[in-house]
Amino acid sequence: MLLTQSLINIRCRSCNTLLDFKFATGKISGKSSATDTGTESSIPTGNLGTSAVDKIPGSKTHSKGEPLDVEALGRSSWNLLHTISANYPDKPSNQQQSEMRQFLQLFSHIYPCSWCASDFEKYLKDHSPKLGSRDEFGRWMCEAHNEVNSKLNKETFDCNFWQKRWKDGWND
Ligand code: FAD
Repeated sequence: MLLTQSLINIRCRSCNTLLDFKFATGKISGKSSATDTGTESSIPTGNLGTSAVDKIPGSKTHSKGEPLDVEALGRSSWNLLHTISANYPDKPSNQQQSEMRQFLQLFSHIYPCSWCASDFEKYLKDHSPKLGSRDEFGRWMCEAHNEVNSKLNKETFDCNFWQKRWKDGWND
């Protein structure tokens, strides 16, 4: 599925896995290349083959890194979104609810993977964010994430555990 999508928008790194991006832009000739096993796309920096120890010129600390692919961007974004929901107030004011609604709307407009963004925007229209309390919002976010998990044929997450995963931890 991603390969078909990548042919529509092959220059969009954030819309494709690193492997599909490299394949579609001719950086590799086939998906079975010995050096491109697909494991790179699990590297959060979206590394395109540059050694992780390479530093940018003049810096002792900053690795070169590469732009994020669709998976690294997605992981980072879900980390942010779930952590935002975990820090949402138990009893939000009308203004806090309104600001969160606006944030989600804007997020769905500017998310750098275009088809991810348009599906998320549609999800927001069909499933209005539940913002009455932290638990409501955390569960809503969990269900939104599960919608994407299902679309990608990934296992869904049991939303009864959302607070343990994203707020309290498992050892309390
Ligand atoms: P992720 O799905 O990124 O999950 C990160 C962690 O969150 C997991 O390890 C798990 O601990 C936890 N988790 C998983 N599910 C839940 C849940 N339901 N509730 C709470 N915690 C959970 N990719 C595409 O290829 N196509 C798309 O259309 C697409 N749309 C996206 C839309 C949005 C708004 C976002 C933020 C991302 C989208 N992505 C899309 C990226 C995709 O969802 C994944 O982030 C990416 O495939 C990497 O997946 P992952 O298996 O590493 O874990």
